[in-house]
Amino acid sequence: MPGLTHWHSPNFHAYYPTAHSFPAVVGELMSAGFGCVGLSWVASPAYTELEVAMMNWLGKLLDIPEEFLNCSEGPGGGVIQGSASEVTFVALLAAKEKMVKDLRTLNPELKEADIKGRLVAYSSDQSNSSVEKAGLLGSMPMRLLPSDEKGRLTSTALIEAMEKDKAQGLIPCYVVACLGTTPTCAFDDLSDLAPVCKRENVWLHVDAAYAGTAFACPEYRHLMKGVEHADSFNFNPHKWMLVNFDCSAMWVKDARYLVEAFNVERIYLKDKHKGLAPEYRHWQISLGRRFRALKLWFVLRIYGVEGIQKHVRHQISLAEYFEELLRKDNRFEVCTSSMGLVCFRLKDGDKPTQELLERIHERKIIYVIAGQFRGVFVIRFAICSRLTQRSDVDYAWQEFLSQVEFIIPSNKNIIADEINEKKSIATIELPSAACENINCNEKSK
Ligand SMILES: *Cc1c(COP(=O)(O)O)cnc(C)c1O
Repeated sequence: MPGLTHWHSPNFHAYYPTAHSFPAVVGELMSAGFGCVGLSWVASPAYTELEVAMMNWLGKLLDIPEEFLNCSEGPGGGVIQGSASEVTFVALLAAKEKMVKDLRTLNPELKEADIKGRLVAYSSDQSNSSVEKAGLLGSMPMRLLPSDEKGRLTSTALIEAMEKDKAQGLIPCYVVACLGTTPTCAFDDLSDLAPVCKRENVWLHVDAAYAGTAFACPEYRHLMKGVEHADSFNFNPHKWMLVNFDCSAMWVKDARYLVEAFNVERIYLKDKHKGLAPEYRHWQISLGRRFRALKLWFVLRIYGVEGIQKHVRHQISLAEYFEELLRKDNRFEVCTSSMGLVCFRLKDGDKPTQELLERIHERKIIYVIAGQFRGVFVIRFAICSRLTQRSDVDYAWQEFLSQVEFIIPSNKNIIADEINEKKSIATIELPSAACENINCNEKSK
């Protein structure tokens, strides 16, 4: 279709996946058909009640600590927001409320405006652009601290930055740690960062937008060690968990800070059911709410825990297979490989790598995007489509091979300069497997 990017083509390997499945589509259709607006519990009780239930199911699926769940005794709970960006911003506002409240309890003569003007937030230089944006929107300077050689924010960098700010009379307020960074899917070590946040009474938010889905598999849960010390946690079922955009799951340990930050009662919103179910409008920016829980319900019921685990494991295994192919060819270098994302380059440097990417873009056969890691230019290869199979990874690999030939020929007898590019593209020989794939692709078109 002209003007549409084919995000669900098995040859789409750019960005991160955006989720798509038939159960979720049906959920969206039904939600559109019902056409309610869940601005309060009474405005459509099933909207709120199914969301409470789904956030419990989802929390149990990922095995996040009980105290985050709606079904726990304490003030914790989960809510569905529209995006990870919104969540990072909403958590920042809650952190701000909490800090003002804490400081004024200790020192009642402090003015709210004086405190708010001195608050500072921290994340790493690998964090998503939406983290920086949350700081801008919330009028809180966001320090993007240098990450270590694995792309992680470290307690050393965090302490150093906080000490520097405190020496200038500023107040550390909010830290965004990342489980699965956007550039390379690196994992911050929460057990390293959490003690610093605790000591400084700083709100710790965990952004696991893409990689959070992997915690459905027990073998990846060690990567969220320390999550019990976080104040809020977020991941996007709309990225990797088969629920169509938008659906971003947020849990907080103490929802009262959210409610205090966002509660604006009006006579037309009053109803006598107060307190029985959460009034989610106090947990978010908008008043109105969609029935997002429905598509989540469909996906969880139809795929089940095992279906979701199978999907995650399959996609990770495909990325590992691609990594294997890269490692067998000594012209390529794997820079990072984590979950469903492989970042690689040509050993000859940035310029040839850039040229390879330009060629791939020009041909429009597969889609990948550029990245940067520790100062070098890389190509990001992500397993995105639910439909991607091993043969599609082979197909992508053949595409890279066919183009790298023009930059670093595998056959030394050919001098690169002598290749007339235009003619060569027409006559270049692809191994037979790739040709079959091209035919497949033609058919599917
Ligand atoms: C994709 C991504 C985001 C932004 O997600 P939205 O839901 O589009 O706002 C934030 N953080 C990380 C780590 C991401 O990968």
